[in-house]
Amino acid sequence: MTAALTTADVACLFRELANAVAQARDELCRLDGVIGDADHGIAMEQGFAAASQAIEALPAQATLADQLNAAAKGFLNAVGASSGPLYATAFMRAAKVAGARHELLLNEAPGLIVAMAEGIRSRGRAEIGEKTMVDAWAPAAAAIEQGMADGLPVREIMTRAGEAATAGAESTIAMVATKGRSSRLGERSIGHVDPGAASAAMVLNVIAENWRRHDTD
Ligand code: ADP
Ligand code: MG
Repeated sequence: MTAALTTADVACLFRELANAVAQARDELCRLDGVIGDADHGIAMEQGFAAASQAIEALPAQATLADQLNAAAKGFLNAVGASSGPLYATAFMRAAKVAGARHELLLNEAPGLIVAMAEGIRSRGRAEIGEKTMVDAWAPAAAAIEQGMADGLPVREIMTRAGEAATAGAESTIAMVATKGRSSRLGERSIGHVDPGAASAAMVLNVIAENWRRHDTD
């Protein structure tokens, strides 16, 4: 039997994400304090808490698209920082791919990450190498596209996606910020990891770990 991802699984995943970013709040604020305004941990904590609560508040018959659109709205309303519209767009793109269904096949799930990465890239108009969360999301999406083309199992695809996101976040240390608040520092941003890329790698690794648990074939 092919594994599936249900609305209950999505609600559970958002609870895990909210817990993970809440635990990382102080560290993410510290990273943002170095090249930004020290609020990124709060933005992520409040955003994912709101997204998870918005999903919990839905009626039982809500679809995957309803959940992801509710997450987008919740995140956007809770977060005034620039990560707000970026994650909201990501969730809306995922909602479009998931559709008005109550479950999807697990092997469709990595495609949601590809859609989210593209949403973030187009909303923020940032490309790889500009020291933003795109430096974590885009390599993860590329790893997924490659893994899907090669017909790899979801657990392997998601392991590679998580590793690509972690390496991508690390690669921002050597970069000069040209987008967002930290671009004001110019060359002085070199030597510090981008907080949005660090949190994106964390988020992607939580998702990877969750979907690996579902991939039991
Ligand atoms: P703010 O910069 O408004 O305080 P946050 O602290 O929540 O917002 O998030 C900062 C992160 O947002 C940055 O580290 C970077 O990864 C990401 N970011 C900022 N601008 C962009 C953009 N145009 N495209 C993609 N990511 C961006
Ligand atoms: Mg900030």
